[in-house]
Amino acid sequence: MLYQRSSQLFVEANKVIPGGVNSPVRAFKSVGGNPIFIKEAKGAYLFDEDDNKYIDYINSWGPMILGHAHEPVINAIIEKAKKGTSFGTPTELETKIAELAVSMVPNIDKIRFVNSGTEACMSAVRLARGYTKRDKIIKFSGCYHGHSDSFLIAAGSGLSTFGVPNSPGVTEGTAKDTLLARFNDIENVKSLFEANKNEIAAIIIEPVPGNMGCIPPKASFLSSLRALCDENGTLLIFDEVMTGFRLAKGGAQELYGVRADIACYGKVIGGGLPVGAFAGREEIMNYLSPMGPVYQAGTLSGNPLAMAAGYQMLLELNSDAQIFSRLEEKTAYLEKGIDKVLSENNIDFTINRVGSMISVHFDKNEVYDFETAKNGDNETFKKFFHELLKKGIYIAPSAYETWFITDALSYEDLDYTIKSIDEVAKTL
Ligand code: PMP
Repeated sequence: MLYQRSSQLFVEANKVIPGGVNSPVRAFKSVGGNPIFIKEAKGAYLFDEDDNKYIDYINSWGPMILGHAHEPVINAIIEKAKKGTSFGTPTELETKIAELAVSMVPNIDKIRFVNSGTEACMSAVRLARGYTKRDKIIKFSGCYHGHSDSFLIAAGSGLSTFGVPNSPGVTEGTAKDTLLARFNDIENVKSLFEANKNEIAAIIIEPVPGNMGCIPPKASFLSSLRALCDENGTLLIFDEVMTGFRLAKGGAQELYGVRADIACYGKVIGGGLPVGAFAGREEIMNYLSPMGPVYQAGTLSGNPLAMAAGYQMLLELNSDAQIFSRLEEKTAYLEKGIDKVLSENNIDFTINRVGSMISVHFDKNEVYDFETAKNGDNETFKKFFHELLKKGIYIAPSAYETWFITDALSYEDLDYTIKSIDEVAKTL
């Protein structure tokens, strides 16, 4: 495969855009080489500037559940665009998509739309702090909730200590209010509650993390968090930016039967346009401005184009009774195939999967939190990534990312992928 034009474009981009990209992981830093510039996409495929074709396993990091350039979504955007792109006033469509989302997800009465997952999580935490009149939050190492200051906190030497910032520009003052816990370790969370009595506003968690590979929550971990929150007057925030409207109609809340106080959404809910949302029970959501004291706003929030795309997307996810089981079947088929060929080639690996989220870790031990995710062999991953790319298979350019399966994938695509992984495994 030739990447000549992509390489040239990257040189030009670097002159005017920091690192040549508008979001860091796109730069291929952790796998080496130059990023590929995509020209267009259709269904399950991406086409780059050198006219290479790829089977896409990133799907814009989740939202393209129905495939790229899905016609009903595209038509909805076109029709809306003809009537104006932003008014800065309420529109009827915002209420329609809100009603639909509320009907699909358990336990939410009201929803507010924002422009990204970051904004959704940032606003949810502010709301939780305002509602509980407490400052501290618990987040889990390896969970990503966007790039708002409170979330850019890594573990210090001890996991029950205060967090330290892991990006310059995040103040220690901000970091001290973020407590870090280990995913899947309920005792660790309990000890944080004991050490910070009546001080914790919220736990924020990816119920199925997708940002350290895909990590299934252990049985009863999420329900134990629910119980701890209830005992301590703390709100439970599910960051469903990846899992929402993907794992089930009602996301992880539905799949695991655990109710969050606030749920955050992104990506999917905008059909690929820049959207996020956060939602919860009426008494909590009414705490938001202009009804309540917690301020939150956005000029382009509820933007007509994004609402049109998202509404069409949710309508289809709501009306297709088989979509989530179909996605699950395709992903299970892929899992079985990869498991077989990697085993036959004597590779040390672990595959994690929940529904249509799947990750391959180059380590034979169980991967259940950030520490165990870090044990994966990154050199093997790099080779795996580049060899698959050469065969026209595009997975995320980082060992810590999840693959997202689209309904547009055919079993032929899956078979080709498994065959390619078999060939690549022989070279690892
Ligand atoms: N939460 C989760 C779970 C995410 O995966 C992401 C982004 N991948 C975000 C929040 C932030 O969303 P955005 O990039 O739209 O700001």
